[in-house]
This record gives sequence, C-alpha cells and structure tokens, in this order.
Amino acid sequence: MKTGNSAKLFEEAQKYIPGGVNSPVRAFKAVGLEPLFIKKAYGCRIVDEDDNEYIDFVGSWGPLILGHAHPRVVEAVEGAARKGTSFGAPCAAEIELARMITEAFPAIDMVRMVNSGTEAALSAIRLARAYTGRDKIVKFEGCYHGHSDSFLIKAGSGLITAGVTSSPGVPEDLARHTLVAQYNDKSSVEKIFAAYGKEIAAVIVEPIPGNMGLVLPEEGFLEMLRGISENYGSLLIFDEVITGFRLNYGGYQNMAGLKPDLTVLGKIIGGGLPVGAYGGRREIMNMVAPAGEVYQAGTLSGNPLAMAAGAAGLQMLKAGGFYEKMAEKTQLYIKELKNLFVKRKMPVVINHIGSMFTVFFSDKYINNYQSAVSCDTVKFADYFRCLLNKGIYIPPSQFELSFISAAHDGEDIEEALKRTEQALKLLDN
Ligand SMILES: *Cc1c(COP(=O)(O)O)cnc(C)c1O
Repeated sequence: MKTGNSAKLFEEAQKYIPGGVNSPVRAFKAVGLEPLFIKKAYGCRIVDEDDNEYIDFVGSWGPLILGHAHPRVVEAVEGAARKGTSFGAPCAAEIELARMITEAFPAIDMVRMVNSGTEAALSAIRLARAYTGRDKIVKFEGCYHGHSDSFLIKAGSGLITAGVTSSPGVPEDLARHTLVAQYNDKSSVEKIFAAYGKEIAAVIVEPIPGNMGLVLPEEGFLEMLRGISENYGSLLIFDEVITGFRLNYGGYQNMAGLKPDLTVLGKIIGGGLPVGAYGGRREIMNMVAPAGEVYQAGTLSGNPLAMAAGAAGLQMLKAGGFYEKMAEKTQLYIKELKNLFVKRKMPVVINHIGSMFTVFFSDKYINNYQSAVSCDTVKFADYFRCLLNKGIYIPPSQFELSFISAAHDGEDIEEALKRTEQALKLLDN
C-alpha cells in the first residue's frame, strides 16, 4: 500500500499543528501507524491522498449515518451557504431543528444549540449545578463526555474517593468534584450516593457507552440511575451524543422508556457539520440565559449551515423502516463477521446494537471499563493494519465504535466480509 503522500502531509502538518492532527485518536498512535490524510469521501467509501479507497466503518466517528456527502445534505448546505454562512442573529432554521429534536424526545421540552458535544456536556453540568445548587457530579469510568475539565477525571484510589485528573492542566480542586463510578455496577453508584448524596448535582452517563468500545447496559442499571438520582434530588443526564438518532428516531432513552432530566446531543444532529445541543425539562432549561441567569453563549451557535444539514439529515431518518433496515443489515454483517473469526479459531467478542458494534480481542464478557481494557490491544492493532491493507477503515483504537451507514449496501457488506476474510489470513501469519 502506498502512503507516500499522506506521510509527506503528516510531516508538514507536524510543523504547524501539535502532533499533526486536530484531534488525538486520528494520529493512529494506538495502532503504530501514521495517520492517513483523506482527500474525499462519498457514500460508504473514503479515499486517501495516495488514492487508496476504503470501505469506511468510522463515519467521522458517528455523525454520518447517511454516508459521506449525501446529495440531499450537500444540497441543503450549499443552499444555506448561498444565503450567508453566519448571521450572529436568530434564523428560522434554528427553530426547525429545535422543533424536530423536541418532537423526537419526550424528555426534551426545550433545547439549546451549541457547536460540539463537548460544549453541550459542559453546559449541561453547569446548568445542573445551578439548578441543584450543588457542585459534585458522578460519571462512569470509560464514558466520554468531551474534553472539558470536569470530565477529564479518572477514578481515584478508593471506590468513593474523589476523582483524579487524567490530563495535566486540570486543577485538582476541580477533580474533587467529579466522582467516578463503574458502569453496570449498581453498588459503586450506591456507595457514592451514600457518602455524598446531598452534594451531587448530577449523574451523567452514556446510556450505551461507546467510548470504551461498545458496552451494553445490563437489566435495570439505567433504571437504577433514574431512581437513585431522583431520591437524592440530583439530576440524571444522558449523554446521547452517539446514540441520539443512531438507533431510532430519538434517543436510546425512548427505547428504554426512561426520562433523564437533561440530554446531551451532537454528531448525527449536525449531519456532519459541527454541532452539539443540550435540552431537557422546561423548568430547568428556562434557567439558561437570557431566559434565566446560567450563562452560556456562542458566536456561531445555531449556525445556518449546520442547522440546514442537521434538519435535512433528520428528515431522511424519519422515513418509515429506516432503523429497522439498518439493524437488519448490521445483524447480518455481524453474524458473518463472527463466523470468519470462528473459522480461524480467533477468540473475539462482538458487542453490537442497531448499526454500531465493536470487535473486542478478548474471550471475556465485556460490560464495563475494567473488562474492556483487559483486551489484547496488540492483536487489535494487527487486525487494524491488516484491514487497512485490504481497504477497510475502522477506528484506529480498540476502545471505539464501528458504524454502518445507510450507504453500505448489500454489495459493500459482502465486499467488506470478503476483504476481512483476506485480512484475517494475513493476521494469522
Ligand atoms: C463525541 C462525543 C462527545 C464529544 O463531542 P465532540 O463534538 O467531539 O466535542 C461527547 N459525548 C459522547 C458520548 C461522544 O461520543
């Protein structure tokens, strides 16, 4: 495989951009490679600067459920751009997307648009802190809520001790307000609430974690979070940045029949443009400025291009049978994929739901951070490199999600399986 042009660009990029990339996982460090620079993408294919073409299972990390450069999304963006790229004043397109989101989520009465999932999550905890008059938050080890200070915290030494910073630059003073529990472990949450209950502003959770690889909630776990947060007067925040509009027209909360107090969104709702949003009960959202006093603003928030792309995307997702088809297609793919590993006697665990999945190099049941990090990441890196060589692009880390998009048709899926089989042969040697 030729990668000379990407290599040259990477060298150049490193002169001007820290590590040569604008987001760390893109650097391919976990798989021992240098990043590929992407020239263009269409449907389920992406093409790098050396003209290698790949079947893409990254989908820009989640937003591109319709595939790359979907004509109707592109048309919406072009149409909006011709009328001006930003007004710094309200526009009708903001109402349209906000209305679509509130209609799709029974728990969201009102929603505020921001520019990324990070911004949405940090704004949601500021609001939760203001609403409850409390400072502490509970998060789960391995869940990701963007890169703001309060979330760059890992578990401390004891189960109920305050978290410690996971990045230089985050004040320890702030870290002590973030308590870290274990996903799918009710007792870890109970212990934290027993010790700090009345100081906890909110519990924030990815209802289906995707940032330790895909992990599924066990029976009753999310219900327990709903119950305990209510009992202690804390808010429950679902971070549905990945799951929002990924599994159904709405959030995983709709499927689970749960109502969080606040919901954090991003990725799919922007149709591939930079967007985030947070929303929830009217009484809480009315505390956000200028309706209330909790300050939060944005020069480009509610950007007309992003609003147009998001709304155009959601309109297509609303079509009958969309999610059923996606799930069916993925189910079939996963079944065949599993067979390929079984044939070669390679132990893997494939967690999947709807159109998302993770292949874990492990023979254990993966249901939380501890079990996820016990995977064979060296084997995963080999797998990644073999797939790339055969023209398949998956996330360059064991602890990420792969996505199937509406643009992956039967032929693409078959082709992907054929290439994976060839890759596994390379991996065996
Ligand atoms: C991607 C992601 C975020 C952060 O969104 P950005 O737009 O990258 O800032 C937050 N939460 C979850 C669950 C995510 O997957």
